[in-house]
Amino acid sequence: MANPSLPVAVIGAGPVGLAAAARLLAQGEEPVVFEQGETVGAGVLTWGHVRLFSPWRYVVDDAAADLLAASGWSAPDPEGFPTGRDLVDRYLTPLAALPALRDRIRLGVRVEGVARDGFDKMKSAGRDDAPFLLTVESAGGVTETVRVRAVIDASGTIRSPNPLGASGRAVPGEADAADRIVYGIPDLLGADRDRYAGRRVLVIGNGHSAFNALLDLGRLADEVPGTAITWAVRRPAQRLASLFGGGDADGLPARGLLGVQVRAMVDAGSLDLVSDFRATRIDPSPDGVVVSGDQAALPPVDEIIVATGFRPDLSLLSELRIALDPIVESPVALAPLIDPNLHSCGSVPPHGAEELRHPEADVYVVGMKSYGRAPTFLMLTGYEQVRSVAAAIAGDWVAARDVRLVLPETGVCSTNLFDAPASSCCGATVDEVAAATGAAACCGGGTPQVITLEPGVPATAAACCTPAAPQLIQLGAPR
Ligand SMILES: Cc1cc2nc3c(=O)[nH]c(=O)nc-3n(C[C@H](O)[C@H](O)[C@H](O)COP(=O)(O)OP(=O)(O)OC[C@H]3O[C@@H](n4cnc5c(N)ncnc54)[C@H](O)[C@@H]3O)c2cc1C
Repeated sequence: MANPSLPVAVIGAGPVGLAAAARLLAQGEEPVVFEQGETVGAGVLTWGHVRLFSPWRYVVDDAAADLLAASGWSAPDPEGFPTGRDLVDRYLTPLAALPALRDRIRLGVRVEGVARDGFDKMKSAGRDDAPFLLTVESAGGVTETVRVRAVIDASGTIRSPNPLGASGRAVPGEADAADRIVYGIPDLLGADRDRYAGRRVLVIGNGHSAFNALLDLGRLADEVPGTAITWAVRRPAQRLASLFGGGDADGLPARGLLGVQVRAMVDAGSLDLVSDFRATRIDPSPDGVVVSGDQAALPPVDEIIVATGFRPDLSLLSELRIALDPIVESPVALAPLIDPNLHSCGSVPPHGAEELRHPEADVYVVGMKSYGRAPTFLMLTGYEQVRSVAAAIAGDWVAARDVRLVLPETGVCSTNLFDAPASSCCGATVDEVAAATGAAACCGGGTPQVITLEPGVPATAAACCTPAAPQLIQLGAPR
C-alpha cells in the first residue's frame, strides 16, 4: 500500500461513488471524488425523467443516510418511487452538500487515465508501494495529475451505450444516421416530445430501458395520432414468453409491472413487434431511415431508439493490471454470479472486495461498471460493494469479507422452461408454464399471428416451430 497519508480517489459522483465516499469517511479515510459532470448524479440525470422501479428504501445507502440524518435531512417516504431527478435532488445533492463531503468532491473534472506513479504496466518490482497517478482534465481543458493511494472506479456505464448492431459493433450507416438515433431512454413525454409526436419510431432492444421507452411511446401515441411504434427484438418468436420479465413474480413489483404493461400493449396491437431481428445496416430512403436485418428490412421510420444496454469504458484503466471476465467484462470472480448466459435471476449472492479485487492491488471497480455488460445491477448491490471495499482499503479485511446483502428476486429467471430451444417449443411443459403465467407462449392458447416480413410476400399465419426468420407479430387483435 502506498503512502497512507494520500487520499483515496473515487471516480464518479453517482449513487455508488458518493456512497463510497461516505463509507471511506466512516472508515477514517480521506476520499477525493472526481465527477465529470457539472453536478453530482450527472449520469442519473441523463435518465432523470425515468421513474425508478426501486422504492426509496432500496436506493439510499445506510452510511450516507447516517450522515444526512445528522444534518436534519428529512428522508423521503421509503415506499415511494423516485424519478432519476428526484434521486439527485432529494438525496445525492443534499448528501454532496454536507460539510463532510462538499470540499472532497471535484465537479467538472474528468479522469482521463490511471497509472502507478513511475510504473508502466510491465514494471513489477516495488509496484504495490507506488501511489496511483490520476490524469484529470477540468472543464477548461486544463490537465493535471493527482496522486492517491487507492482507486475506486464508480464511473458507471451510462456514457458508453451499446450500438444498434446485433454483433456488438456499429452497423454501416449507423454513424450517418446519428441525427435519427437516440441511445437510452429519451424524454418522450417531456423535453423530447416534439421530436417523436406523430412520427414512426423504431425501438431496438429489450429490457427495462426498452420497456420504459415503449410505455412512454404508447402514451404519446394515445395523445398524438400518427405516432407509430415498431419494436424489434433479437429473440425468436418461440421464446417470446420470457420477453416481458418476471411480472408478478418480480421481487420489485414496479419492475415486473413494466413488462406486464408492455405485454398489454402488444396484446392490444398498439405496436408492431418484430422478433428474430438482428440489425446489420441502416440506409436513408426518401420515406425515412430503413434498418435492415440479416434476412429482411423493416419498414422506413423517422426515429430510432436504441435500448441495447451499456458497456464499461475500460480505457481509463488500460495502464493498470485489471483482470476481467472475457464475456461479461466484470471482475473475474463476479462474472459467474451475473452472467446472463448462465442465469438471469437478479438474485446475486453477496459479494464485496474479495470478489472485486484485481491483480493490481488497491484498485476496485464498483457500481454499475463492476457488472461490465451484465444488465442486472441494483444500487443496493453497489452500496454493499463499497462498504466492503472501504473496509478493505482501511485494512479491515474481516469486515470486508463479512458481506451481507439480501436482494429482491427478479423472478425473471431464464430457466430451461422459458428458454426452451425451438425443438422443444411445443412440449407440454412449455404449455404448462404459459398457462401458469398467463403468457401467450408460442404453443399456448393465444397463438400469435405471425406475418413474415418480406416485401411482396403475403401475410401468413405461421406455426410456432417454424425456422427462425424475422417476424412481425401481433399477439392480440390487429389494429
Ligand atoms: C433508466 C435506468 C433506471 C434504473 N433504475 C434502477 C432502479 O430502479 N433501482 C436500482 O437499484 N437500479 C436502477 N438502475 C441501475 C443502476 O442502479 C443505476 O444505473 C445507477 O445510477 C448506477 O450507479 P453508479 O454510481 O454505479 O453509476 P452512475 O450513476 O452512472 O454514476 C457514474 C458517474 O460517473 C461519472 N463519470 C463517468 N466517467 C467519468 C470519468 N472518467 N471521470 C469522472 N467522472 C466520470 C458520470 O458522469 C456519472 O455521474 C437504473 C439504471 C437506468 C439506466
